[in-house]
Amino acid sequence: MDSASLDNQQARKRIVIAGGGLVGALCACIMGRKGHQVDVYESRPDPRSEREQALAQGRSINLALSARGRAALARAGLEDTVISQAIPMRGRMIHSANGSKKAILYDPNTEQCIYSVSRQFLNEILLSEAEKNPNVSLHFSHKLVESKVDKGVVTFRNNENIVPTEVEIESDLIIGADGAHSALRQAMLKRPMTNFSQMYIDHAYMELRIPAKENGQHAMDTHYLHIWPRNEFMLIALPNLDGSFTATLFMPIPIFGELQSAEEVEAFFTREFPDAIRVIGKELLIKDFLSSRPSHLISVKCNPLNAGKGVLVGDAAHAMVPFYGQGMNAGFEDILILDNIFDIYKHEPVEKVLTRFSQSRVPNAHAICELALYNYVEMRCLVNQSVFILRRFLDYR
Ligand code: FAD
Repeated sequence: MDSASLDNQQARKRIVIAGGGLVGALCACIMGRKGHQVDVYESRPDPRSEREQALAQGRSINLALSARGRAALARAGLEDTVISQAIPMRGRMIHSANGSKKAILYDPNTEQCIYSVSRQFLNEILLSEAEKNPNVSLHFSHKLVESKVDKGVVTFRNNENIVPTEVEIESDLIIGADGAHSALRQAMLKRPMTNFSQMYIDHAYMELRIPAKENGQHAMDTHYLHIWPRNEFMLIALPNLDGSFTATLFMPIPIFGELQSAEEVEAFFTREFPDAIRVIGKELLIKDFLSSRPSHLISVKCNPLNAGKGVLVGDAAHAMVPFYGQGMNAGFEDILILDNIFDIYKHEPVEKVLTRFSQSRVPNAHAICELALYNYVEMRCLVNQSVFILRRFLDYR
């Protein structure tokens, strides 16, 4: 507990968090530090376990961390630790079809930048930090299966045993950080006057590896978010600490469908991304491409974000397409705002405080979902735009 811990006016709450992903784990850190009794129930096994570590080996997925996310990490006392394990990206490096490159700095004057950070590292450090609080307990392999938000009662199924068991918990506050297909949200949608929309876009994505050079160095300029804009589709790449990059190809689903053989994949990359195929390596590209399946991209809006003692945060509240690099950052900011609102309105009942949170958060959540959709057009078409337009729109602020 720290200086921001509970004063005698704010009662210690029993908080249940569904989902121990990035946002749920950060929430546990912040609410745990405050002194609340926090139980996190995560449907997957502990990502820090030996088995999960072995499964994750060779896969490095990274995210762009921006000022919003950093502010929330600072509240959890983790900003410096995370930044020390992240790579600053000072601008975008645009790769043209003819192989030429052009750097566009985010902020040449103050050198503000965004950071590439490993998703696995971030999740692990958040879980470990949360667990340092004796009042925080983590329960893995527990899936939310039923919620009675008015009563504050939730049921989780423990999938660890051969015969699954169920556990019912009563709490003062249920936080749904259970991702884009949230089970808590599903339960809340049954209530009248709850509005919800979800949209899959016609484009999907696939992650590919750009390995480190033999000397362990990055094969391209390290401190950039690399972008290959090709109007209808695009490739991007963010650096990892081990010298590799994680590249992501965003493309209309039918074009993925056309690339079925090694020859088709090679011809496509040679035509569209000649400098990328050189750094990925033909064999690795073909192996990774043909052994992966494109993943879908969803955009979710919900209003209100609360019902009874339940509230949605992160992707459960506002899953967005990743083109503004703000999904996690906005989810982290949810926790900061929730914490602030609980501090300000400490005398009010939980239900009322959650309504205040929802009212303040929904317009912002909807706006960032829209901006994220819009930014895809800007990113993949940006090669035809002026630098002014680029600065204005292509952003990971
Ligand atoms: P999740 O990460 O989905 O975590 C939800 C957790 O809940 C999971 O661990 C899941 O196992 C668990 N769960 C699900 N159902 C249940 C249940 N019934 N019971 C219990 N637990 C459950 N964001 C950025 O800010 N910057 C980026 O650069 C960025 N890049 C991205 C690139 C791609 C390709 C994609 C797809 C997304 C990107 N995002 C980025 C978005 C970011 O990944 C998400 O916004 C972020 O992961 C949301 O975190 P979350 O904890 O809300 O949800």
